[in-house]
Amino acid sequence: MDIHLPLSRIKLLNPEFPNKSTGIINGKSSGLLNWNDIAYPQIYDLYQTLLSNFWKAQEINMQDDIKQWDFLSSTEKDVFLRINTQLACLDSLQTPTMCQVMDYVSDSSFKAIFAVIAQQEAVHNESYSYILSSLVPLNEQKVWFNQAKNDPIVQKRNQLILDAYECFRENPTPQNLFQLGVNSINLEGIYFYAGFAFFYHLARQQKMLKTSTMISYIQRDEMQHAYFMAQFLRILLTENPDLHTEANIDYVYKVVGQAVRLEKEWAHMILKDIDGIELSEYERYTEYLANKRLRQLGLQNLYKERVNPMPWIHVFSDEMMNGTKSDFFEQKSRSYAKVTQSNGFDEL
Ligand code: ZN
Ligand code: ZN
Repeated sequence: MDIHLPLSRIKLLNPEFPNKSTGIINGKSSGLLNWNDIAYPQIYDLYQTLLSNFWKAQEINMQDDIKQWDFLSSTEKDVFLRINTQLACLDSLQTPTMCQVMDYVSDSSFKAIFAVIAQQEAVHNESYSYILSSLVPLNEQKVWFNQAKNDPIVQKRNQLILDAYECFRENPTPQNLFQLGVNSINLEGIYFYAGFAFFYHLARQQKMLKTSTMISYIQRDEMQHAYFMAQFLRILLTENPDLHTEANIDYVYKVVGQAVRLEKEWAHMILKDIDGIELSEYERYTEYLANKRLRQLGLQNLYKERVNPMPWIHVFSDEMMNGTKSDFFEQKSRSYAKVTQSNGFDEL
């Protein structure tokens, strides 16, 4: 296989091929999905996990936050709105990208996972809009969205992701799919967290708890997505040894390192006026996250090994999230539940 030749867009139906695909790309696959006859049965567990995380913005009543909004300082309000719109910008890229990947993945069970992820990204986008519409008029929302689009630090941060996504869009080769996957892990597994930290920081002070509840749902989804993408890439490399090169492993370390630097830079910009979030501590948190993503990919830590320096960012424990502790291939099916009194913000 030439990893630099474009993959062909998969025909909807290939009746002469088996239902169980012979590969996640370039596989022989009928296009029919029978979950009982798939190449990687653990993908069904992941599908169940994603579905049991299902939530929608309207389930959360924003009334308490609406009342508290007027009591936030003007700095808190500004940072709140800036982060909200900047996170919405990141999520906006994910729905169309995941849909596009589906056209080139030959295994129907993986297509189904990408479809569910795309749906969840649409919910994330809606939730940011829902929060905004509860708090500020449309005119003001538009101003913040324009700022998010034009901010140079945000642009620089997002450009790497965008470049990788556009590259695959223009030229859907296996190599570009690999690079898209790595960048997607950066987006979902590293880039969101300075934003999440701010909302959890408010929650620690009993402020804007409804918003933070939504953020915690988004975080739970994103951790699952980043985890899935890591498994996808591992299978992609295992099935396609031509992709499993030293250059590609170096690529992972390089772009994860870049993402860490850009996330730190963004955190310094976005959180500089917020008392109570120690930026040096957040920097270590970013490195902790990057190590976790690398281990999920089966690679080594890039930074000093450490425990989570900001445990309050994690509303959901790693164990609950299928984190790095269990090997994907040995993993047992688990059931997940929505946030309750016992696993929700009381733990913050
Ligand atoms: Zn998302
Ligand atoms: Zn996601």
